[in-house]
Amino acid sequence: MIIFDLACQHDHPFEGWFQSHEDFDHQLACGLIACPQCTSLEIRRVPSAVHLGLPTAAAAVPARPALPAAPVDLRSGALAALRQLTEMLLANCEDVGSDFAEEARRIHYVEAPERSIRGEASSEEYEALLEEGIEVFRLARLKPGDLH
Ligand SMILES: [Zn+2]
Repeated sequence: MIIFDLACQHDHPFEGWFQSHEDFDHQLACGLIACPQCTSLEIRRVPSAVHLGLPTAAAAVPARPALPAAPVDLRSGALAALRQLTEMLLANCEDVGSDFAEEARRIHYVEAPERSIRGEASSEEYEALLEEGIEVFRLARLKPGDLH
């Protein structure tokens, strides 16, 4: 959203809010911008009073009602991604329960078929696995039902 300082042919100053420079040009060409004081359509841009350090001469008058931007909730997006990831893991990993650390080692040292597993490991086991160079990562302990 950008704000332009505008004036009509009678030098009535006002402000217009636009999506972009193109939006301004389009609205001007289509006669959609009218002076709020005399409804003249002879509108031109004037140098911004703010940039010149002058007091703003008129209150802001939107050329049209400003549309509120759609709210973007990043937090719910991240949660949805985590939920998807967790559900994918739950669906595709073999649950080895408390044998997780043992089984992860066997897979790493090719003593067991390579596959994705999940299970429970203590913090000590988790650290030990990482130190051995075994790729593990920890999720908060989740059951599918926890995420809904
Ligand atoms: Zn005017």
